[in-house]
Amino acid sequence: MLSKLIDILPLKGAEGAVVICVHVNPDGDAIGSALALKHYLERKGKQATVIVPNVFPDFLDWMPGADSILVQTNQNHKEQIKTVINEADLVIVCDLNQPNRLAGLEELIMQSTAPRILIDHHLDPADFCQVAISEPEMCATGEVLCHILSQSGELDDISQDEATCLYTAMMCDTGAFSFNSNRSVVFEYISRLLARGIDKDQIYRNVYWTATEARLRLQGYLLYVNMKVLYNRHAAIITLTNEERRRFKVKNGDTEGIVNLPLQILGVRLSVFINEDTEHPGTMKLSLRSIGDFPCDQMASQFFGGGGHKNASGGKLQCTMTEATERVRSAIEAYAEMLK
Ligand code: 5GP
Ligand code: MN
Repeated sequence: MLSKLIDILPLKGAEGAVVICVHVNPDGDAIGSALALKHYLERKGKQATVIVPNVFPDFLDWMPGADSILVQTNQNHKEQIKTVINEADLVIVCDLNQPNRLAGLEELIMQSTAPRILIDHHLDPADFCQVAISEPEMCATGEVLCHILSQSGELDDISQDEATCLYTAMMCDTGAFSFNSNRSVVFEYISRLLARGIDKDQIYRNVYWTATEARLRLQGYLLYVNMKVLYNRHAAIITLTNEERRRFKVKNGDTEGIVNLPLQILGVRLSVFINEDTEHPGTMKLSLRSIGDFPCDQMASQFFGGGGHKNASGGKLQCTMTEATERVRSAIEAYAEMLK
């Protein structure tokens, strides 16, 4: 049996101020696995602070511990973040494979003299942590944590809050277990998390059924007006500019999941969402999603300076929306053979 998770962490004796940080534009897996770790460490008598590079979606606000998360882009948190990182005995980096995914936190985290440990499931982790637990075949960083806790004999003794966070992490990275979740062990973990008292039906509603009227109308507009379906390429493109965001009063989180919608169209295997960056107008953020074997990560790294997973990747372009749309069309043409 593996040692307890706490014993793998390079913490000595009474030392125990841990910083947990995740990738920019944190998703449910990032927030869920970071909060699960925080609850676990606190149960073991350590201090643990979750720090994120920028705001996370409102539909994760309900998560136990979410109100304690420090956000680098929040002016009121900046000083505290510096202090907490400087005083950390250990830094845990979750759900990312390259330091630049820490965005505004990268410098502070990389300058810290505390040991760093990576817990992640992305392909090809960069070598920037003393210890790296990287399991790319797993569906979520939350599953990596379930795996460690199972191996160390601790999974059946975790708290309900820990279990809730771990379930949310896996649910969010698998579209509520609709993709990337065919390995039976995932359902074994779910069963054991249910035994810890989680309410998975409530978790689903908390994440997916909390739309505002504005979000629903935005979806209608994007699908009716902005979605272009390239039937001969089995692909679809959706765009959203900052002007449209203002017009539709789009809030952070309202665009989450939009990229998946075109995949419901019979025959569409690739969906690309081009979303103008609210914090950096003129930067276009791209989200790619695919069904089956189509390698979004290859397309993202070859054309959009990004990367990610086979079925879910992202990248960026510095240009206008019109140019970005053209570049996406060219990328799709270049992959025409693989999209057949
Ligand atoms: P999303 O479309 O949700 O923003 O990102 C989907 C996935 O793509 C993320 O989980 C992450 O793995 C990856 N990703 C998104 N943006 C980038 C990027 O700019 N660079 C890299 N390397 N990966 C990205
Ligand atoms: Mn993830």
